[in-house]
Amino acid sequence: MPATIVDGNAAAADIRNEVSAQIARFTIEHGPIRLCAVLVGNDPAARLYADSQRHRCLQAGVQHQLVELPPDISEAALLAEIDRLNHDPEVTGVMIQLPLPPHVDEAVVQYRIDPYKDVEGVNPANIGMLFYGVPIIAPCTALAANELIRRSGIEVRGAHAVVVGQSRIVGRPIAMFLTMQMATVTACHIATRDLAAHTRTADILVVAVGKPGLIGAGHVKPGAVVIDVGINRVTVRSPDGAETRRTVGDVDFDAVREVAGAITPVPGGVGPVTVAMLLRNTVEAARKQLHRRV
Ligand code: NAD
Repeated sequence: MPATIVDGNAAAADIRNEVSAQIARFTIEHGPIRLCAVLVGNDPAARLYADSQRHRCLQAGVQHQLVELPPDISEAALLAEIDRLNHDPEVTGVMIQLPLPPHVDEAVVQYRIDPYKDVEGVNPANIGMLFYGVPIIAPCTALAANELIRRSGIEVRGAHAVVVGQSRIVGRPIAMFLTMQMATVTACHIATRDLAAHTRTADILVVAVGKPGLIGAGHVKPGAVVIDVGINRVTVRSPDGAETRRTVGDVDFDAVREVAGAITPVPGGVGPVTVAMLLRNTVEAARKQLHRRV
């Protein structure tokens, strides 16, 4: 029997409904919530992502401001702009649209965001606090993967989870969330020998790499929950020779669907839930700023 599809669009709609009500209440009691997205240069994908965030923010009752900066801005000037947003009491959340130009160090810029305004949960202060289980704001994509695992209905405690991809803001926080819920976690990465030998033992398999087709049916234990975080743009050729661009994950969806117990599609899986988590984090940031101690 083909796997159950864990529907990210439905999950995102539920989260947005719940968060919109919280935003409306907060706005009446304390004033508007505003998210500032910093876009350096004119990367079309970053702009597209910023536009879709703006749409979702306005829909949920969050003000959205796109701070556009020139591609040749110095790192020092960019940091000064973040300081300005950090100190502006009208600004609730600050996020940086990626990619940044090569002369700017992404980690340095992310370090600079006030942890209470870091709505994507990318400041090391927030990621580090994950180890203690108490981040001010947790990373959105890890929250999204976690939510979809929860919705799959699998019992995480005691399960064997394999997380492929160990980046600072995606793979490692996901592995940490699963560890905190008492899964037994195997962390795989580019240096893992015989990836399939590990992934085939997973009750929960999370893939966050950025390589289309990395995980095929032979990588998956029958009945496993498969969460595909990857987002890749690929060109596909139809039988008549026409080429089209498509978005796919890291998992060969059609093949793995025949083996897995539950699977997230791409698009329509982790992606929309990540944007919904950004809204949830923004209202969370607004609340926590009312009672901040540092
Ligand atoms: P990254 O490049 O920072 O990290 C990739 C990780 O994959 C590294 O840990 C690397 O060791 C590992 N890796 C590379 N090749 C491998 C291989 N052959 N076998 C096993 N591991 C391998 O990427 P990232 O920022 O973590 O993003 C990963 C993917 O998730 C990308 O496709 C990205 O677009 C996507 N992403 C999706 C969302 C979302 O909301 N759905 C959010 C962020 C990132």
